[in-house]
Amino acid sequence: MDYDVIVVGGGPSGSSCTAFLSKAGKKVLLLDRARFPREKICGDGISGRSVSLLKELGIFQNFKDAEHTDMYGVTFSSPDGTVVPVGAKDKGDAPGFVCRRIVFDNILFQNAKKLAAKTIEEFIVTDLITEGGKVVGVKGNHKGKEKAFRAKLVVGADGAAGVTARKLGAANADGDHQYAGLRAYYENVDGMGKTIELHFVKETIPGYFWIFPLPGKRANVGIAITVTEMKNKKINLVKAMEEIINANPVFRPRFNNAKRTTSLKSWILPLATKKVKSYGNGYVLIGDAASLIDPFTGEGIGNALTSGKVSAQVIAEALNENDFSEAKLSQYRKRLFDIIAGEVSANARLQMLGKHEFLLNIVIGKAKRSDEIKAVISDAILDPKDHGRLSDPVFLLKALFA
Ligand SMILES: Cc1cc2nc3c(=O)[nH]c(=O)nc-3n(C[C@H](O)[C@H](O)[C@H](O)COP(=O)(O)OP(=O)(O)OC[C@H]3O[C@@H](n4cnc5c(N)ncnc54)[C@H](O)[C@@H]3O)c2cc1C
Repeated sequence: MDYDVIVVGGGPSGSSCTAFLSKAGKKVLLLDRARFPREKICGDGISGRSVSLLKELGIFQNFKDAEHTDMYGVTFSSPDGTVVPVGAKDKGDAPGFVCRRIVFDNILFQNAKKLAAKTIEEFIVTDLITEGGKVVGVKGNHKGKEKAFRAKLVVGADGAAGVTARKLGAANADGDHQYAGLRAYYENVDGMGKTIELHFVKETIPGYFWIFPLPGKRANVGIAITVTEMKNKKINLVKAMEEIINANPVFRPRFNNAKRTTSLKSWILPLATKKVKSYGNGYVLIGDAASLIDPFTGEGIGNALTSGKVSAQVIAEALNENDFSEAKLSQYRKRLFDIIAGEVSANARLQMLGKHEFLLNIVIGKAKRSDEIKAVISDAILDPKDHGRLSDPVFLLKALFA
């Protein structure tokens, strides 16, 4: 064996897994097809869950020193144009941030690279090596040369369209459980404050339109909708976004002086409501490769970092016990879902609510008048630890109709 573990992909999930495993004394080979710093199509919203993982990795200060904005709450609007800012306090530690992924991912990746036994950028993994029903390595291409590496375990952290989940028959290809997202950067957007903005506008129901502020009146602007609804309703994402910015009465005035500074780019968000088999003999899948994105907010970075940490713990145990079996590695998925299952099911309820224009109008109208509802929604977006009340159907019914 060349290495204890090969990690395919150096995004948030792969960098987190590499760092935790290397700190545990394991010999990791980290491979990524890109050369960092690299772009990633994303809203660039960083939540409380991500912050605690950055602290554990010891790189929170590197992030604080880098270009970002502090975010203290969320602003919503309903299809009827009711706008509700939630969590407007702006003192103390910010619960969330916006940071361009070209900056954010590079901090994580350089930390992982420093700790890993070896890192190879511009290495495109093309296939897995399997022997006797067990994954034992990867094949790929580095600057035109074919290469293969072997390890006791392989971690698939190669994102939503990665090769590892596809080769293992575990890729999420279910349009009901995937968002299609489109985003671009703008400058001179008016009316932004210290909140991220999620808007449920007619043009994207049952999806949403976001404006995430960046320093200097710049913003990450985008839309997301489930692939099935996009196909069924024949929604063209580019046209829908242009319509919101150029014609929607709430947003047109805010984009009067704005200029798009990058092209519109789209990508897939595999949602955690789809159960995929993220472990087997000799491998685990983490992050987007394991379909872990929050079904309401579209947030995937926090769960990607968490899956990196939990997988590293189980893999370190597997290496110590010399047991790389499916049974042993199944503990990774169990332990991960012990942490995230509550919020996934709570936010799946919110996602269902978002499919109905009249319900959105009711709830967001009520939120405007109720501090309790504001607090619950704010928790769901910024601090996904406490989902007690959101998981409680009685609370939801009362919130909706009382
Ligand atoms: C439009 C959009 C908006 C989003 N907005 C947000 C948001 O605001 N907040 C949030 O938290 N999440 C958001 N997400 C989700 C978030 O981007 C992902 O959940 C997150 O990037 C997952 O991290 P990851 O490490 O699993 O995968 P990735 O970040 O995709 O990293 C995968 C890595 O694998 C590498 N790779 C791929 N294939 C290969 C190969 N064959 N060989 C070698 N390397 C390979 C890639 O180069 C990449 O570096 C959004 C996603 C989209 C599409």
